[in-house]
Amino acid sequence: MLCIGIESTAHTFGVGVMDNEKVLANEKDTYIPPQGWGIEPVKAAQHHRRVWKDVLQRALRQAGVKIYDADVVAFSQGPGLPPCLQVGLEAAKRIVSEGNQPLVGVNHCIAHIEIGRLFSKLNDPVTLYVSGANTQILAHVSGRYRCFGETMDIGIGNALDKLGRGLGLGFPAGPKIEQEAKSGRYIELPYVVKGMDLSFSGIVTYALTKAKSGISLADICFSFQETSFAMLTEVTERALAHTGKTETMLTGGVAANKRLQAMLETMARERGAKFSACPKEYSGDNGAMIAWLGLLQHKSKINNLKPGKADILPRQRTDDVDVGWM
Ligand code: AMP
Ligand code: MG
Repeated sequence: MLCIGIESTAHTFGVGVMDNEKVLANEKDTYIPPQGWGIEPVKAAQHHRRVWKDVLQRALRQAGVKIYDADVVAFSQGPGLPPCLQVGLEAAKRIVSEGNQPLVGVNHCIAHIEIGRLFSKLNDPVTLYVSGANTQILAHVSGRYRCFGETMDIGIGNALDKLGRGLGLGFPAGPKIEQEAKSGRYIELPYVVKGMDLSFSGIVTYALTKAKSGISLADICFSFQETSFAMLTEVTERALAHTGKTETMLTGGVAANKRLQAMLETMARERGAKFSACPKEYSGDNGAMIAWLGLLQHKSKINNLKPGKADILPRQRTDDVDVGWM
């Protein structure tokens, strides 16, 4: 069974084509804001409107299929930036108007989990989902991905990007901070875990104040990573202990970070649990993950939509969705 998946929640417009568990194509184009700026939703949506046809054509060519070969079309319904989500919905509607397939709306965060499960070969992990806008510790309990902990303000990816912006690094800043951190030494930063929840924005402000007072770029980057990643690892460990699960998975754009992977791996090993990170190609926002979850949902008859009635769900939460395919 063949599915075309459309991703457009934030900076990336992506189109993936999945033939059951096989990725036939995973094309994308990412909006990069001007130096010193964050993502402006309307500008990102204008970018998506400019590129969507080209990304779709590239994906179809790469997959060697035509629109009408697809059995189902899926799109990111939420959560995300409304103007960006709207472009994905319109693109998906245009495709089904041509190919006449069922249209499936999928939750973006759950798509990150499911593509991670597919490639990591883990069955029932506690997932640390770390992306630009989202940071959640999730596990499947009683038919849903329950949220055991999450950020109370900004996602860890946005925190890294905001810190990078203040330090004059370009967007996305995560990979640059990872590089700089390699030669850094530790200075103490606030460590903010409240119960099972986390907060990053105050640490960014504090770190930028330290940078202005003359602490080196490498030391700021190293200390920010050590502090925020230790916070994430602590909460993930407590979710493992609480649920009694024996697998840990890392997914989302920040999952590419080797230091975060190493911290989780050490924690998992010391508890006798398995650890795996979603491969980099599929850990950031992409269309293949939307196509894969679209297939899982379509086969379980979950959230097949009438194109005329389909709408975006910008504030949909991970734990709002019944996971009938597990
Ligand atoms: P997503 O929203 O899931 O596509 O993730 C995008 C976020 O991942 C951005 O905030 C990036 O800064 C972050 N990111 C990408 N690569 C890395 C890395 N190697 N280390 C830390 N953060 C990263
Ligand atoms: Mg994402």
